Amino acid sequence: MTRWAIDRLKGSGQPFFLMVEGGRIDHAGHANWARTLVDETAAFDEAVGIAVDGLDPKTALVLVTADHETGGLALNGYPDEKDGIWSTYSDPQGDKGDGPYPVVTFSSGPGTKRQTRRPPHGEDDARPSGIPLGSAAHTGVDVALYAWGAGADRVHGTLDNTAVYDILRTHLEGTSHAR
Ligand SMILES: [Zn+2]
Repeated sequence: MTRWAIDRLKGSGQPFFLMVEGGRIDHAGHANWARTLVDETAAFDEAVGIAVDGLDPKTALVLVTADHETGGLALNGYPDEKDGIWSTYSDPQGDKGDGPYPVVTFSSGPGTKRQTRRPPHGEDDARPSGIPLGSAAHTGVDVALYAWGAGADRVHGTLDNTAVYDILRTHLEGTSHAR
């Protein structure tokens, strides 16, 4: 879909703005479906790759960000080498009374006990949550902002979310003036 949209817009010969959302990343976060969340993030990564491959970095600016995180995804130490983030940690010394616990958990949401729909990856998809909610809450953690192409150097350090507007506007105005 991203390739189709970019091809159509490039074909118009006009400057354009395109927003592509990996919206099901959020849905998986709300449901605490960790494996689905990883799949959806990989699909979104593929869409970003298509944009970068199909655009000219001398004129195009690609920004990748999120409007919020969902569910409070945590990667708790210490995954084993075989199963990685999908492993369950057990204290090998057995003297602290810690664990076992899954490496991937959420701060809120239906967890493993309040699922109302069958997760796409089956029982192993849902991960525990600390605060039981029918649907996980959005969180206030900082989100990443990645930039590629013309004007990407404006993206650095810690920015207020309104900076995204300023960066886009500056780029779009520069593009339209260049015509
Ligand atoms: Zn949401």
